[in-house]
Amino acid sequence: MSTNAELFERASRSIPGGVNSPVRAFRSVGGTPRFVARAQGPYFWDAEDKRYIDYIGSWGPAILGHAHPEVVRAVQEAAVHGLSYGAPTEAEIIIAEMLIERLPSMEMVRLVSSGTEATMTAIRLARGATGRNKIIKFEGCYHGHADSLLVKAGSGLLTFGNPTSAGVPPEFVAHTIVLDYNDIEGVKQAFAQHGQDIACVIVEPIAGNMNLIKPIAGFLETLRSECTNHAAVLIFDEVMTGFRVGAQGVQGLSGVTPDLTTLAKVIGGGMPIGAFGGRADIMKHIAPLGGVYQAGTLSGNPVAVAAGITTLKLLSAPGFYEDLASRTKKLTDGLSESAKANSIPFSADSVGGMFGVYFADQVPTTLAEVAASNIERFKVFFHAMLDEGVYFAPSAYEAGFVSATHDDSVIQATIDAAERVFAKLK
Ligand code: PMP
Repeated sequence: MSTNAELFERASRSIPGGVNSPVRAFRSVGGTPRFVARAQGPYFWDAEDKRYIDYIGSWGPAILGHAHPEVVRAVQEAAVHGLSYGAPTEAEIIIAEMLIERLPSMEMVRLVSSGTEATMTAIRLARGATGRNKIIKFEGCYHGHADSLLVKAGSGLLTFGNPTSAGVPPEFVAHTIVLDYNDIEGVKQAFAQHGQDIACVIVEPIAGNMNLIKPIAGFLETLRSECTNHAAVLIFDEVMTGFRVGAQGVQGLSGVTPDLTTLAKVIGGGMPIGAFGGRADIMKHIAPLGGVYQAGTLSGNPVAVAAGITTLKLLSAPGFYEDLASRTKKLTDGLSESAKANSIPFSADSVGGMFGVYFADQVPTTLAEVAASNIERFKVFFHAMLDEGVYFAPSAYEAGFVSATHDDSVIQATIDAAERVFAKLK
């Protein structure tokens, strides 16, 4: 049996950084990544056969817990009939109809294979449909790794962004306006200045890529009204929040209806999938109906679609989200109480099956406030919890995820572990 350290060393020889997606490498917390051998329900086991309570759940998809028997059966049954056809199937219609039925804004939808593809295409579609170039995104929101979205705010107010990745020419982000999340005035100002040129606003309507940050009152409503007034497209990136925060995403919770929505993660139940959809008049600009090109060899993949359909059906069980939300809150309440008992500045927040923990007195509403939290203390907490067999996201800038299999005993075991860790941290 190889140790995690041996596997990491070996992986680093053939895979850049030893991982296939950067956050897995533990760069921001230090130490050795755990190599997963298998997973079941709320747990995974690493290469050394140590068991962890998993609060990442594949960064969102595993809302039913790992290897849910019905989802696994659906995958097995679909696989027997072929892994990919490159021709349409009835199952694709079924999942499209399920998404349209469930999401208030969705009139038509197209499947792709990842969240990145979904957001990249939604932006191209918004540009194609409006004939405009500029887009607005918010600092700290992540929308996948398309060139024009790998951008941070430039210096000064209301400037166009600078690339955050090598290999992205500044010209590629020259049309991306980067604003602060929850900055209502900034949005109004950007529209006042550039309204006629703005194709779309893309936003995580509840942000999960700078830890968990909720929109302040009026933020989403302002996006809606400014987009409507300037004929720009409002895109809710619900890749993370879709079917995670509730049965209808943030659009259901907030009552704010976007023009387009991007999805991935939960809708594939752990298989590679993504989707973008929304107003039919906009969606009709997509090829082959319209002039905006998009395609995919594996789009609508039958195995992924089978996993997605089964997952969405199981999520429709009465009370599913109420249960999930109350477990998640039990976790964050327990962690907060235990930190308080040990006089550690700490706060936590949750929505549906998604949560944030912050080593700060108050729940942050901006990226700057997350950055100002005690990140060094988070790192110590993270590693101590890992030793206790609890796997939180390996970064203070990531949200956490609870599954339906995190029952009371699993949550209590986590709180007990945190109590021991906080007692040592104080
Ligand atoms: N949008 C959001 C909000 C995300 O959280 C992510 C991934 N974490 C993406 C887009 C990109 O999705 P993917 O990793 O499937 O390409």
